[in-house]
Amino acid sequence: MKALIYKGPNIRAVENRPKPELIDPGDAIIKMLKTTICGTDLHILKGDVATCTPGRILGHEGVGVVDSVGPAVTAFHKGDHVLISCVSACGKCEYCRRGMYSHCLTGGWILGNKIDGTQAEYVRTPHADISLYPIPAGADEEALVMLSDILPTGFECGVLNGKVAPGSTVAIVGAGPIGLATLLTAQFYSPAQIIMIDLDANRLVVAKHFGATDIINSASGRAQETVMEMTQGKGVDTAIEAVGIPATFELCQQIVAAGGTIANIGVHGVPVALHLEKLWDRNISITTRLVDTVSMPMLLKSLSAKKIDAKLLITHRFKFDEILEAYDTFAHAADTKSLKVIIEAD
Ligand code: ZN
Ligand code: ZN
Repeated sequence: MKALIYKGPNIRAVENRPKPELIDPGDAIIKMLKTTICGTDLHILKGDVATCTPGRILGHEGVGVVDSVGPAVTAFHKGDHVLISCVSACGKCEYCRRGMYSHCLTGGWILGNKIDGTQAEYVRTPHADISLYPIPAGADEEALVMLSDILPTGFECGVLNGKVAPGSTVAIVGAGPIGLATLLTAQFYSPAQIIMIDLDANRLVVAKHFGATDIINSASGRAQETVMEMTQGKGVDTAIEAVGIPATFELCQQIVAAGGTIANIGVHGVPVALHLEKLWDRNISITTRLVDTVSMPMLLKSLSAKKIDAKLLITHRFKFDEILEAYDTFAHAADTKSLKVIIEAD
């Protein structure tokens, strides 16, 4: 089968690999129908993710058809259409029992990281009973690809951890796919104000279309002052970091209101200063989280009921044969105006 391989920093290639086989009794083999590329895949390609070693098939998102299942799998059968969670979970260990699937002792984020992933014709998914979700009949499978990672990540790490509430004020720093997924799911709670902050004018236009009440182009260098003007000098109840660099986390510290919450989503590779000399008396909370995908059943129902339009996040479509072009398009988002790219089986 064809697969997209991480070959070491800044090298990616399509290679032929053997079709994966069942290893553990709880495994399933999935024939991929649609997958996508995540910002995290670009981090891996830069060499930022030490757990992902050269030779790995990338990808942790997608939908497919069950090709075979191990003897311990009871919830799925050959031919079932399934959504693949970016996080694999045994459902039985101490962390899974606490709903922290991301820290499962034999799972977590392993797909396309510690084991081969979904950017291939077939993928082996461990702990299939808990880590796959049945696709309801008639569902839009392309839209569901947005559920593998970015919608639960925006919702759990940004909206839930950030305690977004009716009438509250929210700022989302970063209007990439994760920031926009956060914007879509924040609206479940009807905050009074959602301010999107980014350097990219096109993404801010998209954010306005997705429901942002205000947008700020931080290229002005006046993002902090503008947020303060927009909130009568108070700052925001929830400041969500959706980039993963020091400047954006520092901005969140500058714009959080007394009693507010800073919710970090971004993957950080370098240290960030924590300004306790300014924050110690402000009654704020700071949260971090890796997505657990425990909100998946709720998000599946919300999507089916058309409460959110996940397809808004999809800007480009490619066949698997064109996956290298898909990577180039996704990696040069400022020029190509790409958000999420769909890669379909040939
Ligand atoms: Zn991802
Ligand atoms: Zn577990």
